[in-house]
Amino acid sequence: MLNIDLHCHSHISDGVLPPAGVVARAAANGVDVFALTDHDDVAGLGEAQAAADDAGITFIPGVEISVTWSGQTVHIVGLRIDPLNPLLSAGLGDIRVGRTARAQRMADDLDKAGIAGAFEGARAYAANKQIIGRVTPGNPGYVEHEWTTLVNAVSWIRASGGMAVLAHPGRYAFNARQLHILLDTFRALGGEGIEVVTGSHHPSEYGKFADLARAFGFKASCGADFHAPGEGIDIGRLPALPHYCKPVWLDWPEIEQLQAKN
Ligand code: MN
Ligand code: MN
Repeated sequence: MLNIDLHCHSHISDGVLPPAGVVARAAANGVDVFALTDHDDVAGLGEAQAAADDAGITFIPGVEISVTWSGQTVHIVGLRIDPLNPLLSAGLGDIRVGRTARAQRMADDLDKAGIAGAFEGARAYAANKQIIGRVTPGNPGYVEHEWTTLVNAVSWIRASGGMAVLAHPGRYAFNARQLHILLDTFRALGGEGIEVVTGSHHPSEYGKFADLARAFGFKASCGADFHAPGEGIDIGRLPALPHYCKPVWLDWPEIEQLQAKN
């Protein structure tokens, strides 16, 4: 049985380890197949690929794209993407520019609230200068932000040869009807999978999302959503997908090769 983990962050976005450090941790944890999926950025994939080659791990180039859908932020994971695809890189570049502009607006707001130097403080703190987190609505520094559209995210991923996967569907504040509309819409746009087993789902939710994947004709993905040692679930430490799921890697040639060897 292969150990497969398809969702993980490095310090290129909001994780703490460098890409090679994340790969080293995956290798130490016995991971066979690993995807790095930093937020809106593919800059870590070259380093991770080289480290994975050295460690003998099968590497899947990935990304996690921020989308605004029905007033909420939704995350779309792209797997087996081509990071050099011009449409994908231009789209991700625009998202990062928007994120930096939002950070400046947040800092201006905090300045007005008497918290000076917030932008420089936030930038100095963030490992990646373009990835800056947010505060909650109603507090000083909260700025509404529109990410890109679901249509864009899915089409960039597909244009680069990748598979679009809805990240952690259990984490959004949608009711059942809204979630079903999201799943239908995502499927119609060419989305192929949803995360079922993820560090962002409670184990009691795995069955529910496995059932939804089956009902809506999606393949199932799994990934720890690892950010930092000691936080949440570690890389490669998730249980297997429920047996009736069709995994996202079903037709991936690199996995077929690996399974033939094992
Ligand atoms: Mn996410
Ligand atoms: Mn994530």
